[in-house]
Amino acid sequence: MTPTSTGHDHESPMPRITTDVLIVGAGGAGMYAAIAAAREGATVLLLDKGQVGRGGATIMAQMTVAVALAEQEPDSVERHFQDTLDAGRGLCNEQLSWLLCEDGPRRIREMERWGTRWAREDGHVKQEMAPGHSVKRCCYVDFLNTGPAVAATLRRKVSEASTIRRISNLSVIEILVRDGRAIGALALDLVDGQFISIHAKAVILAAGGLTKLYQRNSASANMGGEACALALWAGAELIDMEFVQFFPIGHLAPRLVGMDPIMWDPFRYKLGGKLLNGRFEEFIDRYGSSDFGRYNAMRDLAAYAILKEVETGRGTPHGGAYLDFRHIPESQLRAAFGPVIDRLLANGIDLTKTPVEVGPMAHYHMGGIRVDVNMQTRIEGLYAAGEAVGGANGANRLSGNAITEAFVFGERAGLQAAESVKGLESNWPDDVARELIQQFDELRNVRSIETTTPIAIQAELQNMMWENVGPFRTGEKLSPALERIQQMQQELPGLRIGRVDRFNLDLQDWFELRAMLTTAEAVATSALARRESRGAHQREDFPAPDDSFLKNQALRLENDKLATSWIDPVRLKDNASRHG
Ligand SMILES: Cc1cc2nc3c(=O)[nH]c(=O)nc-3n(C[C@H](O)[C@H](O)[C@H](O)COP(=O)(O)OP(=O)(O)OC[C@H]3O[C@@H](n4cnc5c(N)ncnc54)[C@H](O)[C@@H]3O)c2cc1C
Repeated sequence: MTPTSTGHDHESPMPRITTDVLIVGAGGAGMYAAIAAAREGATVLLLDKGQVGRGGATIMAQMTVAVALAEQEPDSVERHFQDTLDAGRGLCNEQLSWLLCEDGPRRIREMERWGTRWAREDGHVKQEMAPGHSVKRCCYVDFLNTGPAVAATLRRKVSEASTIRRISNLSVIEILVRDGRAIGALALDLVDGQFISIHAKAVILAAGGLTKLYQRNSASANMGGEACALALWAGAELIDMEFVQFFPIGHLAPRLVGMDPIMWDPFRYKLGGKLLNGRFEEFIDRYGSSDFGRYNAMRDLAAYAILKEVETGRGTPHGGAYLDFRHIPESQLRAAFGPVIDRLLANGIDLTKTPVEVGPMAHYHMGGIRVDVNMQTRIEGLYAAGEAVGGANGANRLSGNAITEAFVFGERAGLQAAESVKGLESNWPDDVARELIQQFDELRNVRSIETTTPIAIQAELQNMMWENVGPFRTGEKLSPALERIQQMQQELPGLRIGRVDRFNLDLQDWFELRAMLTTAEAVATSALARRESRGAHQREDFPAPDDSFLKNQALRLENDKLATSWIDPVRLKDNASRHG
């Protein structure tokens, strides 16, 4: 990409693009934010390090969207809100949770007007039950097509707005802040290796989650937690970083090509299915829930139960549990999942004959960037949206809440950012990115004798995060992990970066690793400090919840070091604050 169209300053030594609102990341949250900002009159630059609208989690989601439409049975915003708080184990930012539940129906109806075909029956949007929801609330697009369908709708809508400029293959590596205000960003062109400065009056971080930090994950290649690192370096705060959701029944075996590793969830919504240990025994009841043939156990409990069975030697060959649909007639399987059954057969999986192996994998992050109810961080003009935001789901997320969150928070961030720039003068000192560029350019000129590549360290980090900062944690495992992460940060400048300009993957991996290490450090630091077990954060050395920890943990950088503060969760005090 070489930015030669309007806004590119040819006199400048470095390509520069100008816009009112810069959006970093073009998944569900970023695209919704772009649409909302454009309809509020702002010019928008929507960037993605992958392909716009195809790079992150949104397009991968095949399952459901939780929203109180009350199409199948009575439901209300209050009820969805209460279920969200119950799942969040006392740590939800209630203003954000309320916003998610209250605005969800508006966004889902809007998506339908824009062309998303939610599955319908007898004139009603079909809604399914899912764990933790007290009513049938989860809508979807058949068959296992929710993410691709909503992404296509948003891509179309974005392309209709002439004031939204889209650029793919541009990775934002730093947010630029002057006098306490975000004024743009520095990006790396992944094709030709050039740095590009972007001058904006407001910036929205919608760069998604961090599950690629873990060796076992359901993530796309672009989910290395860069949004959190960018926010932290810019001076914003992070919150609840210890709460990584491990999806209990990610696909482990047999090999599955071209299908979502967490696709078994909708099978369980619709058909149940038995969860069995390596000895073909049902076992969830041993861990305080009942799941027999149905799908009731919450995600954190199911993940715990499976890993405990594995630990006690009752796991399956690939270290998980069996999911068994053999008792369900083929006609019923086909009625529920038609073409998907054939895709499974093409993968050599016949559900009427063989159970599949499933196990926990990193899937979603409840923590993230700390924002107010307008999605603004503590840095003026710096907003966040989608999975990058922390707080709405507390210590554990209900299934289906993440896509709703992406749409609702995206819309809110876009609207607020666009309003905030009205009448605002540009503020772009010329030297603003120069120092950073010099620093980064030196990287490419170092003839390192080091042979270790950034990708090798990424792999080491992912393995260590899974082993030491994974679903079950102890102080003994967390402390050395934190030390090694800090050591890796010292090693960063010496890593080998090839000297080619075009398609330099080492350079791309280097910048990604730099952000991954910052975010991993934030997760490990928070996990070590929370000496209790709550929701998705399980400490084997502190196995019970402890109400002295009924607080959120906020992190910020002070003199380049992480500083922690414990804060009371934001509560909804009265009706007025619900709309604040
Ligand atoms: C396999 C899978 C299935 C899921 N299923 C469901 C489901 O059924 N229901 C549900 O509610 N939730 C589901 N989730 C979670 C949900 O999909 C996500 O939380 C949500 O889509 C996040 O949207 P987002 O826009 O915040 O992030 P994303 O959709 O991940 O988009 C972030 C974008 O930012 C880009 N990016 C990252 N870093 C940079 C950078 N430095 N510069 C520029 N661009 C950058 C990425 O390329 C990406 O395109 C699922 C997640 C996965 C992984």
